[in-house]
Amino acid sequence: MCFFVHKKKRLGISIRIMIPFGSFRIGRVYGISIEVNYTWFIIFGLVTAALAFAYFPTVYPGLSVGVSLIMGIVTSIIFFGSVLLHELMHSIVAIRNGMKVQKITLFIFGGVSQLSDEPQTPGVEFKMAIAGPATSLVLGVVFGFLAYGSAVIGLSPAFFGPFVWLGIINILLAAFNLVPCFPLDGGRVLRAALWAGFKDIKKATRVASRFGQGFAYFLIIAGLVFIFSGLLDGLWLILIGWFLNNAAQGSYQQLILRETLRGVDVAQVMKKDVDSMPAKTRLKDAVNNFFLKSNKGLYPVVRQKSNEVVGMVKINDVQSVPQDEWQDKEVSEVSKPFPGEKKIQPEQGVIDALTQMSQTKNENLLVVSGDNHLEGKINRLDIMRLIKIKSRLKK
Ligand SMILES: [Zn+2]
Repeated sequence: MCFFVHKKKRLGISIRIMIPFGSFRIGRVYGISIEVNYTWFIIFGLVTAALAFAYFPTVYPGLSVGVSLIMGIVTSIIFFGSVLLHELMHSIVAIRNGMKVQKITLFIFGGVSQLSDEPQTPGVEFKMAIAGPATSLVLGVVFGFLAYGSAVIGLSPAFFGPFVWLGIINILLAAFNLVPCFPLDGGRVLRAALWAGFKDIKKATRVASRFGQGFAYFLIIAGLVFIFSGLLDGLWLILIGWFLNNAAQGSYQQLILRETLRGVDVAQVMKKDVDSMPAKTRLKDAVNNFFLKSNKGLYPVVRQKSNEVVGMVKINDVQSVPQDEWQDKEVSEVSKPFPGEKKIQPEQGVIDALTQMSQTKNENLLVVSGDNHLEGKINRLDIMRLIKIKSRLKK
């Protein structure tokens, strides 16, 4: 199963397409980081074991355990290579159409391509979405020919067996992903068609993600029926259904969020009153007049007249100086540079602020203009409030 997600995921309240645990990079292709999530090892192990100990020994009796195991491992590796190629083709089409692709991650349910933006037209969306299943279909046919060819020239099952399975599985992969349920590839194709018809991406996404949720519920119910009939495989369907349902909801909410916040910049939402500390403040005054009087543990340090941000100071920075020097030293002597990840410019979009907050796990950002002047601060809750008000007004 393969998903596209937008880069701006994990926006706290609403975005629920999440890949759990950590991932590590295995390489870089066309500037796209190729990553493997730790959950992928589970599926790799399951597929390898199912092939080596169940599928191959059943279909080709007489194979030795060792041969069967090697076939399982090699076939599994080529299979996940096929999944990666499927994702890569989505990404290459996206890049050719002027979009940026951050990374591709293989995880327990398949692959995720993380795009920097949504496609701008239904045509681009269609091309991008169809590229993956088309790749799987071509791979399926190629492996089919290889299987046929190697059987005809009389190679042993150890050679043609993997080709047979890879041919079938790639065609199944193409078929499953073409189910018209957003955010699966087929759902993207459906959305592109609806989008072209309705001329309204929101409406198109709403309908396509309803299909997605419908299919997800179908998988969950089918899974439950399987389990009650004694087939444990049903658990897998339930998990996929659950994930698909979250992905469908998440993708739609994400779009609504982006549409709601489109054109709103940080300056419109930020609060202008920010507590800051003048750079020339003596450490003694910093403690008595700032840290002890407020419950803040951190202050931006500014030049008094120009309001230029020169750094930040924490209570620890002051404590690291012996007390008998507090009278003579100024905060600018102990302050640290203000980290870029905690700063944002007033003309940037609020959606950028949310993304930055999610990625850097900061609830607040300091709003600083291009020439480093302190303009204000922006908090996640302020943005959430704005979203609530805006969505109420639209009803
Ligand atoms: Zn795909």
